[in-house]
Amino acid sequence: MPDPDAVLSRLTDRLAPLERELHRAFWTASTDAGPEASAARQRAEEALLAVLGDPELFAEVQQALAATGDAAGTGGRRTRRALEQASLDLLANQVPEGARAELVALQAKVEHAFSTVRGRVGGRELANNELERVLATSDDPAERRAAWEAGKQVGAVVADDVLALVELRNRVATERGYRDWFAFALAAGDIDEAWLDRVLDEVELATREPFLAAKAELDARLAARFGVAPGELYPWHYGDLFFQRYDGEAEADLGPLLEGTDTVGLTVATYDGMGLETRHLLERSDLHPRPGKDQHAFCLDVDRAGDIRVLANLAPGEEWLDVLLHEVGHAVYDDHIDRSLPWVLRRPPQALVTEAVALMLGRLRRDPEFLVGVLGADEAAAAALTGPSRAVLRTGQLVFARWCLVVVRFERALYAQPGGDLAGTWWDLVASLQGLRRPEGRTAPDWASKIHLAVAPVYYQSYLLGELLASQLDQAVREHAGGFVGRPGAGAFLAERVFAPGATQPWRDLVASATGSPLGPAAFLAGLAA
Ligand SMILES: [Zn+2]
Repeated sequence: MPDPDAVLSRLTDRLAPLERELHRAFWTASTDAGPEASAARQRAEEALLAVLGDPELFAEVQQALAATGDAAGTGGRRTRRALEQASLDLLANQVPEGARAELVALQAKVEHAFSTVRGRVGGRELANNELERVLATSDDPAERRAAWEAGKQVGAVVADDVLALVELRNRVATERGYRDWFAFALAAGDIDEAWLDRVLDEVELATREPFLAAKAELDARLAARFGVAPGELYPWHYGDLFFQRYDGEAEADLGPLLEGTDTVGLTVATYDGMGLETRHLLERSDLHPRPGKDQHAFCLDVDRAGDIRVLANLAPGEEWLDVLLHEVGHAVYDDHIDRSLPWVLRRPPQALVTEAVALMLGRLRRDPEFLVGVLGADEAAAAALTGPSRAVLRTGQLVFARWCLVVVRFERALYAQPGGDLAGTWWDLVASLQGLRRPEGRTAPDWASKIHLAVAPVYYQSYLLGELLASQLDQAVREHAGGFVGRPGAGAFLAERVFAPGATQPWRDLVASATGSPLGPAAFLAGLAA
């Protein structure tokens, strides 16, 4: 009979140093890109994946789990929980060696295409952020259409490789006894598919009317702006490549209030008000744009022992304020996880929990108390912004929820029937869920132009569930502490109930114990109706 504690400590001894190495290499490659750094990162990743995918280690953990079946006492329960968590982490990586090499190579090929293929507009090749800028600002419908079409060109380049990835993932999943990769990925993420289906149905039904009403208002404005009838609007008339965002109208602009402010200072002040220290985290971080640096943003818990860093590319304005509030939310979460826990449990129990915390704290930028207490708006300015700020968040959440439904439903269909009419399925979902019109005669594989389908498969439900949990947590914090801004009780509530426990409970139980009820769409939907 294997000794469960010994199995756990052997597993930790093998995984912890490799994970730390990968995180260090990843940070170096992200802050100082070059072929050497990228090769080092790839080696570190292969080393970690080899252990996570080790079938003998997986079997050993299963046996140890079986041996803890009747374990009594806190120590026994904790070991059992750690083994359960380890078992999920390993399950997600149980891919036979040959298939793994094939997956990594194909995925790298697609990633490379996404970072190098530039859409052509007229005679020019434009990067994605330039295409997005056209869609965010241009008043010229022809230019907008060209930018939108250019943004989809990568889909045609990668579609065959994405389909090969889907077939390969399905082969791995069915060999393990799962229906397809969609079912396998949810199981490895500890998400029950029937439960998810019910939640998606409920969100779809309850957001339909409010979404269509908000979109009708938006369409009326766009139709006037572009001089067409609302029925003549096409996907390129909306503000981004997928109609996944809503940035608000001119009257909601935070610009005047943000002028001359310092995004880092605002973020520190916001967290100070909640009694959450951030200076030591920001000191280790890399926050400003520089050549050779990753252009996005993320938070990295390097070693589950206090080395936590944020990467950002701060620019003035609301967008990067949202990003920094969000990423620092991840950082304070990691920073408050009880460091006396076993290494395996020193992490959020599921990505959607830390995502929810970060989303919730990013929304603070539009909290009326934030406008006054942190941005220093006078009463009149704050009053004028309160309604429009609510509309920005509310319409943004509706738009994003409907978009998430498209991606999750599409992925379900993609893995169930990779040989089906995927362009047709994609546009049917886009039309029914987002209310967008398929351009006449368009048969291009537009679905493949969304990078997540290739490199972050079956992950999009986490964004939607994260939004639902953000609303549920927000409600719990407000009931408990009265709000966030200038309320140390809010930080204490989060630190004790959400952050400190790490993964000592499955995510479902943590949500129920922190908020008083299991995860569901009620708070999210109530927020949309209020
Ligand atoms: Zn995040």
